[in-house]
Amino acid sequence: MATITENLQSVRSRISQACSAAQRPADAVTLLAVSKTFPAEAVKQAHAAGQRAFGENYVQEAVDKITALADLRSTLQWHLIGPLQSNKTRVVAEQFDWVQSVDRLKIAERLSEQRPAHLPPLQVLVQVNSSGEDSKSGVPPEQALALCEAVAALPRLQLRGIMALPAPTPDPEAQRRALATVCALFHNLRGRGLSLDTLSMGMSGDLEAAIVEGSTMVRVGTALFGHR
Ligand SMILES: *Cc1c(COP(=O)(O)O)cnc(C)c1O
Repeated sequence: MATITENLQSVRSRISQACSAAQRPADAVTLLAVSKTFPAEAVKQAHAAGQRAFGENYVQEAVDKITALADLRSTLQWHLIGPLQSNKTRVVAEQFDWVQSVDRLKIAERLSEQRPAHLPPLQVLVQVNSSGEDSKSGVPPEQALALCEAVAALPRLQLRGIMALPAPTPDPEAQRRALATVCALFHNLRGRGLSLDTLSMGMSGDLEAAIVEGSTMVRVGTALFGHR
């Protein structure tokens, strides 16, 4: 079985090949290592191989790992990528560096109020429900501008962009279209005067397609840590 270090090398080379195929600079895309369900030890191994940004879906599981890896805290960047309920905002505001799953103003307001003064602003992405499925979290695309403008005005948050999780489809053309729609929304928001630099889309199975369509951050779990 390949080690995490080997997997990291192969994911990094997939990213750089996709960047060059898309004629984008090799550093145009950040790798977020999605460590959900994997132990702190796995994060430690990836960190030893140079990985710095990690994504977690479940608040309590993440806090346990953040605590276990407290001695590495200053060189780790923790991103919440899973749904966030209001009763968990305080611990998230205190422990995380980024929240990619903001989809309601109320959650954003609580995060801003609860972000400790000694920490830099919490970096946030608005999650967009690009495929319109009821089951999925995320704001509908037509409400993204209003939510982004409101979030950008909150004092202890820094709005960096949007996150999307297009529904998996076996049809590569349909997949490309879904990714392109999200990218068009991102550019539209920038055209409205929001200063955004992060488009988080693409996972283990579709990172090449996401990079061709303009992703600046891919969130990769399985290809790094194995099947969950
Ligand atoms: C689990 C998860 C990922 C990683 O998916 P893989 O297919 O394992 O790479 C990315 N983004 C979100 C929001 C996730 O929940």
